Amino acid sequence: MSRPRSFADPEGGPVVDQDRHGTDMAAMEDAAVAVLDGLPDWIWDCQPPVPVERIAEDRFGLRVIDTPDPSTVAGAPDPGENAHLSGLLLPARGEIWVHSGEAQRWPPRRRFTIAHELGHWILHRDAGHPVMCRAAELAGGRVITGALPEIAPADKPKERPPLPIEEAEANAFAAALLLPAVQIRAEHATCGGSIGRLMEIFESSNAALERRLRTLGLSWSD
Ligand SMILES: [Zn+2]
Repeated sequence: MSRPRSFADPEGGPVVDQDRHGTDMAAMEDAAVAVLDGLPDWIWDCQPPVPVERIAEDRFGLRVIDTPDPSTVAGAPDPGENAHLSGLLLPARGEIWVHSGEAQRWPPRRRFTIAHELGHWILHRDAGHPVMCRAAELAGGRVITGALPEIAPADKPKERPPLPIEEAEANAFAAALLLPAVQIRAEHATCGGSIGRLMEIFESSNAALERRLRTLGLSWSD
């Protein structure tokens, strides 16, 4: 696919004005499109998947570091009892910390966590304080079992309380960045809406992709 002149959605953006948490979906789309439009070819040649780690490091000068437990990183706030952190942004140090166990078990989850933390950096870092992101607040993954605490299934959003608005905004930004509307629409048309094929092309989880397709008003097949 050649580089589009702009990553703005040719269909005019999300069909959802707000998600159930109150996120301004068009604003999150614009924020992600601004990042994608500003990338030089040496960072991304526009072939999916979006190289989110390179974008964080080479475009924004952040360091992405894996750790077995983000809550133990020096400078991390106390996450409280039994909190399982997927990611941590330390704005003063320009660092994104990612839960390495999740990353090994589910590589798309790592991509989504990095994109989510990058969203906090772009949208919310004015506050200056570290941002802890609990597993249950990240929308890009699936249930992780075994040694890790279980995460509420992403396919039952109505059973969970609304997220803090900054967490919901970071999730919407991450989805728009990793699954660019212009490319999703093009690949969706080519593969006939096959979710398995789209997961391969965009290195995405099923849950994140379904949510993105719903936001864009697209149907899919298994
Ligand atoms: Zn977060």
